Amino acid sequence: MPETSPRPSAAGGRSRILTGDTPTGQLHLGHWVGSVKRRVELQHDHDCFFIIANLHAFTTRADKPREIRESTLEIVKDYLAMGIDPAKATIFLQSEVPAISELTFLFAMLLPFNRVMRNPTLKDEIKVKNLGENYSFGFPLYAVGQTADILAFRPVGVPVGEDQVPHLELTREVARRFNQLYCGVEDVVEDDDHPRAGGVFPIPRAEVGKVGRLVGVDGVHKMSKSLGNAIFISDSAKEIRRKVSKIYTGRQSPTEPGDVSNALFQYVDAFIEDPARIAELKDRYARGADLGDGHVKVEVAEAIDRLIAPMRERRREFEGDDARILAILRDGCARANAAAEETLALAKEACGLGYFRRRLSID
Ligand code: ATP
Ligand code: MG
Repeated sequence: MPETSPRPSAAGGRSRILTGDTPTGQLHLGHWVGSVKRRVELQHDHDCFFIIANLHAFTTRADKPREIRESTLEIVKDYLAMGIDPAKATIFLQSEVPAISELTFLFAMLLPFNRVMRNPTLKDEIKVKNLGENYSFGFPLYAVGQTADILAFRPVGVPVGEDQVPHLELTREVARRFNQLYCGVEDVVEDDDHPRAGGVFPIPRAEVGKVGRLVGVDGVHKMSKSLGNAIFISDSAKEIRRKVSKIYTGRQSPTEPGDVSNALFQYVDAFIEDPARIAELKDRYARGADLGDGHVKVEVAEAIDRLIAPMRERRREFEGDDARILAILRDGCARANAAAEETLALAKEACGLGYFRRRLSID
């Protein structure tokens, strides 16, 4: 019998949070507004786990292992630059936490195949990433895997962008089904009461930030590392100006009444700090009161630069110091395994697979 507690884990009474990123490139402004800003706030009083989903990067880039490895280290540098503190939060690699893969297999049995394929984020990715008909079997499996990334840590909350909400819904379904099937939780039990009713898994909530979907500089798709429409947090002031100047609005002249819900004004809302200035810009733009797109773009680019210049500066400290990054990851993987092994032992016990105890260590 595993000597573990069936309650969702919480170190020192702090609620647990899990979220993360796929190493398919560097982090951009969408990550900041959608998830990382919130993580930096939460790390002070929550037990935070941040996963680098490097196995999931293979779903679309199995032929580029070197890039995935490189991007993994770059993302950790981005985290540190953005203010994530490895002394407070646990940063770890998906590939070094085997309990996640084991739970993926168990959870795959709890989800009908058609249910996974109906996930709108998955469908959208197949379209915008041009995966056509020939995506790998592993590609849709990542949606199941993501339920395990999360539930392996039994978190109460998952700070994510809007595109992740369908994944969270799938996760919540798996958690309910597991608890009902293997832990005797009745289907009338409310989500929040699952752990109290004996469920191994809490039913985690998606916590979407103020800007749940930042549009890319193409003005059409979500800003995404894979789509070439991102402003990276390591971009120079010049690069930021160049990218912001590309945001398409379709407006012809400064005296034409403009649409303040266009892509450019999404950036105004997200990055200009002074609410009075935002209101003034919107008023003049909507009236066509001699406010050109170019002028708004200069202000947006300056505001973005003010936000990321200190990050860029801090990032320099870690560039070229991969040994330091690997040490952070080694420590994080050890902590992540301790938590995930505890969950796996509980889950295996619940579904009749609790034979022997095992101990994992990282050298
Ligand atoms: P990829 O193109 O490889 O899918 P991505 O840019 O979408 O990469 P992910 O690693 O898939 O980044 O997402 C990491 C986290 O950042 C998720 O919580 C996601 O919702 C959030 N996020 C990513 N892009 C945006 C965006 N444009 N606006 C808000 N949140 C975002
Ligand atoms: Mg994505």
